[in-house]
Amino acid sequence: MAEGRRNDLLMNTTLINELAEEAKDSALLQGFLIRLKESPNSSEVRVTYAPITLFPTPMPKAIFLQAMEVQIHFNILVDKISQDPDFLQEALASTITVDDFTAKLFKIHQHVLKEGRSQSIVLGLNRSDYMWDQKDGHTSLKQIEINTISAGAGGAAARMTDVHRHILKVTGQLEESQRIIDNNPAEGLAKALAKAWELYGSRRAVVMFLVAENEINIMDQRVVENELWKRNIATIRKRFEDVSASGNLDKDKRLFVNCQEVAVVYFRYGYMPQNYKSEKAWDARLMMECSLAVKCPDISTHLAGTKKVQQVLAKPGVLEHFFPDQPQVVEQVRATFAGLYTLDMGAEGDETVAMALATPDRFVLKPQREGGGNNIYGQEICEVLGKVKGSAERMAYILMDKIQPVPTRNCLLGRGKPLKISSCLSELGFFGAYVRQGNDMLMNDCVGYLMRTKSSETSEGSVISGTAVWDNPLLF
Ligand code: ADP
Ligand code: MG
Ligand code: MG
Repeated sequence: MAEGRRNDLLMNTTLINELAEEAKDSALLQGFLIRLKESPNSSEVRVTYAPITLFPTPMPKAIFLQAMEVQIHFNILVDKISQDPDFLQEALASTITVDDFTAKLFKIHQHVLKEGRSQSIVLGLNRSDYMWDQKDGHTSLKQIEINTISAGAGGAAARMTDVHRHILKVTGQLEESQRIIDNNPAEGLAKALAKAWELYGSRRAVVMFLVAENEINIMDQRVVENELWKRNIATIRKRFEDVSASGNLDKDKRLFVNCQEVAVVYFRYGYMPQNYKSEKAWDARLMMECSLAVKCPDISTHLAGTKKVQQVLAKPGVLEHFFPDQPQVVEQVRATFAGLYTLDMGAEGDETVAMALATPDRFVLKPQREGGGNNIYGQEICEVLGKVKGSAERMAYILMDKIQPVPTRNCLLGRGKPLKISSCLSELGFFGAYVRQGNDMLMNDCVGYLMRTKSSETSEGSVISGTAVWDNPLLF
C-alpha cells in the first residue's frame, strides 16, 4: 500500500472503526482465535479474535527474500552446533557457572552424551527472527535471535493472510492484496513432524505435544495437531506432570506415557525456568531426552539456540568452523548478524562494559531467557551492569547492538482495548524445518513466515503477553 494512502485512511476515524469491525469478523471467520486470559484453560464461549494490525506492513521484497533464503543455512548451522559437544562446552563454559537454568540444561546434555544418544533421527523446528534498519539510505536485515525450542505461531500465521487481503480489497487495493504472500507454516512443521514419526516406524506410536497447563494460544498448536490428524497420525497433549506421573521407558528405552508409545516429543513448553515447577519436571525432561523418542528439539539443539551461542557465532572464524568449504554460506549467514559482544571476564568483556555504560541507548542487554520481557534497555543497562560489572555474574548476559527500524503507522486491534493508531515496529520470522537420520539430511526447508508488530513505545514484542499483534508483510 502506498504510504500516503494508508496515512489518509488512518486519519478517517469513522472509516477506521468500520474497517476494524470488518477485520475482526474476518479473523473470526478464518478461525483466527485466541482464548481469553481470564480462562486460559477453556474454549467454552471465552475465545475471541487474535490481536492483529488493521493493515499489513510494507517491507522491501529483497529483505524478505534474503531472510527466506538464509533459513536453510541456519537449519544446518543449528544442527551442526548440536552435534559439536566441544563447541557447546567452550561456548557455554562461562554462562553455566552463573546461570542456573542454562547449567541445568547443560547437565542433561552431558548426561545424554555420556550415555550415548539413543536415537539417530533428529527433528528441528525453529524460527529465526529479524528486524531491518535503514542507515544512509541502505536497508539491512539483522537477526534478533533464533528460537530452537517451542518456536510458536506457525498455526496462527497461516490464518492471518486472508484477513489483510480482505481489508486491502475493501479499501480498493486489489493489486496490493495479491502481494500478500501465501503462508502456511503449520503444514510444513507438520510435514517434518510426520516425517520423523514415519522414520520412528511404529504405527501405534503418537506425537506428544509437551504443553503448558494454561494456554491462551492453544489454537496455534491445534492447527499443527490438525495437520497431523489429517495424515492419520495421532497426537496427544501432556504436561511435565503427566510425564512424571505416568511416563516410563521400557528396556529398549521406548517412551510410554499413559501406556501410549511416543514416537516424537514436540516441546511447546520447557523453555524457561518457571516451566519447571519442581525437580520432578527436570527428571521428566531427562527421561524424555534419554528415550528413543525423537525430541523436537533434543537438548543439544535447545542449547544451540541460547543467546550466548548466538554471540559466540559472531566471533571471527566461528562460522568458518561450521562451514569450512562454503565461504558464500558464511557470508550469507554473517550478513544477518548485528554486533554481538561478550561479557566474559577479561579485557574483551571489560571493553563491552565500558562501551555499554558510555552509550546504553545503542544496545540491548540480554540474559539467557526466552519468551519476551527479559531484556534490558537504556538507563537500566547502566543500573544492571553497574551492579555486576566487576563480578562473574555479568557472564549471564550478552550485549547486542540495538536495531533501530524505521517506524510505520498502523492501527492495532486487540480484544477489549480501544483502537490504537500508533507508530509501529515490526519483526519478521522465518520457520525452519529439518529432519536428519544419522548422516542423511532428509528434509531441510523454510516453511513459512511470521510477522509481529508492536507500538514503538514498547521495547519488547510478545503477542501472548499482549504487547505485540500479528501482522503480514506487504512487499514492495
Ligand atoms: P526472546 O527470546 O525473549 O523472544 P528476543 O531476543 O527475541 O528474546 O528479544 C525480545 C524482543 O526484544 C524482540 O522481539 C524485540 O522486540 C526486542 N529486541 C531484542 N533484541 C533486539 C535488538 N537487538 N534490537 C532491537 N530490539 C530488540
Ligand atoms: Mg526467543
Ligand atoms: Mg524473540
